[in-house]
Amino acid sequence: MMRSHRCGDLRTTDEGAPVALCGWVHTRRDHGGVIFIDLRDVAGLVQVVFNFSEAPALQGAAEGLRSEFCVRVEGEVRRRKEGTTNEALATGEIEVAATSLEVLSVSATPPFQVDEHHDVEEMLRLKYRYLDLRRTRMQSNLQLRHAIVSSIRRFYDAHGFTEVETPMLTRATPEGARDYLVPARLHPGSFYALPQSPQLFKQLLMVAGLDRYYQIVRCFRDEDLRADRQPDFTQLDVEMSFVDREDVLAVTEAMFKQVWAEVLGAELQDFVRLTFAESMARFGTDKPDLRFGMELTDLSGALQQTEFRVFQAGKEEGGAVKAIVLGSQGGMPRKQIDALVEEAKALGAGGLVWIAVADEGLRSPVEKFLSEDEHRELPRAAAAKAGDLILIVADGHAEVVDRVLGSMRNRLGKHLGLVPERARADPEAWKFAWIVDFPWFERDEAAGAWTAIHHPFTGITPDTVDYLESAPEKVLSKAYDITLNGWELASGSIRIHDRALQERVLAALGISKEEAQARFGFLLDAFAFGPPPHGGIAPGIDRIVALAAGEDNIREVIAFPKTQSAADPLTGAPAPVDADQLEALHLALKPPGPT
Ligand code: ASP
Repeated sequence: MMRSHRCGDLRTTDEGAPVALCGWVHTRRDHGGVIFIDLRDVAGLVQVVFNFSEAPALQGAAEGLRSEFCVRVEGEVRRRKEGTTNEALATGEIEVAATSLEVLSVSATPPFQVDEHHDVEEMLRLKYRYLDLRRTRMQSNLQLRHAIVSSIRRFYDAHGFTEVETPMLTRATPEGARDYLVPARLHPGSFYALPQSPQLFKQLLMVAGLDRYYQIVRCFRDEDLRADRQPDFTQLDVEMSFVDREDVLAVTEAMFKQVWAEVLGAELQDFVRLTFAESMARFGTDKPDLRFGMELTDLSGALQQTEFRVFQAGKEEGGAVKAIVLGSQGGMPRKQIDALVEEAKALGAGGLVWIAVADEGLRSPVEKFLSEDEHRELPRAAAAKAGDLILIVADGHAEVVDRVLGSMRNRLGKHLGLVPERARADPEAWKFAWIVDFPWFERDEAAGAWTAIHHPFTGITPDTVDYLESAPEKVLSKAYDITLNGWELASGSIRIHDRALQERVLAALGISKEEAQARFGFLLDAFAFGPPPHGGIAPGIDRIVALAAGEDNIREVIAFPKTQSAADPLTGAPAPVDADQLEALHLALKPPGPT
């Protein structure tokens, strides 16, 4: 038997027991005549003592131990002497007196210490990911991920869903990102696309009569990376037949409640529900952080007569002038305020107007442009009191104002300490919301065309379908999102299941009949054979786990993630390939040009 116990599991109840342990040397302390090591395995640390007066034969081997050597130790569990217990350690009341030591394998000096207390540059962590993953925090993140995924599987299994795998080598699915392409050796000049999602296959499974499908599935999107994006990421993909929106929302919400109760011990309240329009008006974003107030206020009423050019821009057709109020921040140092102005500009605003409210009046660089009425009305309209700092953005495009203030609000709320630290099991820590009633289209000004906010298979509300050709901006979709604490966690919709309507939608997107047939003909053809009404959703597993783990970046909950530039420092991917591999694929490389 290689081992009798796991290091981190030993307790005082094991006192006197002979044990065999395997693990890594976490730390080693030489006290002359006695060497202590902390031995680490998946369950945690335990102190092992080599006392050379008790076990002289171990001296040579114990003195040779270094960090991260992989060893096997036999010995006896004993209580630590009074005054030497370690409360920070679950095994801190006992230690193992070693009677034998076997070095299973030695370790080179690690490039960084395997513990929680050292900041290590991320490139180095990723290059030596197998060492980084030895750290307790990373181990518990992966274990949490496993617990969440198991709970999700249990939920869908218990609710009549069938897990079905869908192809990885397939055709493009339009989720709005660039595809990863794979050249097809047997079909020179043709390419598979890696799925951006299994969207079309899950709809085909509904046509196939599967009724309730789910899959924990890898998806691939070639897009600019951020803290919540990876080129390959994992989605919980769900689709249901004979449902309307409320059915999908109820099942999905029940799933989240089960997972949160089982894994985090939190009994979630019912999710808040906001329409897209309300979310934008109040929070400037469709992924609001609802753990604090600081809502956007509309100043157009108070600035009706404004003579100030900057504010006038916000009152043009399609424009907006709105504010957020930073409570008790009126005394913010000028340097920090300037940084806020820069942040607003980086987010696309022409500028940011700030006004500090005091009992004796307003203090602001634009003070002289404000009339007496405005001096009085502005703080009232913004709901600001003496001591507060008002931040105002005005722009001829309301989207710009919302985007800038919405994203500053999400960041500042956390930064200014408006989000209290809470335990995982505290339901107040988790502000889930459904966002519903999205517009179907958005205008791509650069391309001068209408594009889908969700994907082109998203259903349309019956009362707005007639605007499809005449006024696309008025068309509302049957889409819904879930947001949690400022992150978008899931997107889904009731789908179109009528071939004629699907064709109209594709036409409204500027996709010709021929192109539609070439790209999605297989779905349109399937709709000729009695497709059931259906709908679904796809929550992001990486985001769910990152939030549950309290991490700011999904890379912390993915075993082998890629960097911000979509590279893997561990394997060196992506990498050039041999000339004969290219030859077999009928590919020739152009010299790299400007990207
Ligand atoms: N396929 C969509 C996505 O990946 C989700 C859905 O509509 O179910 O975002």
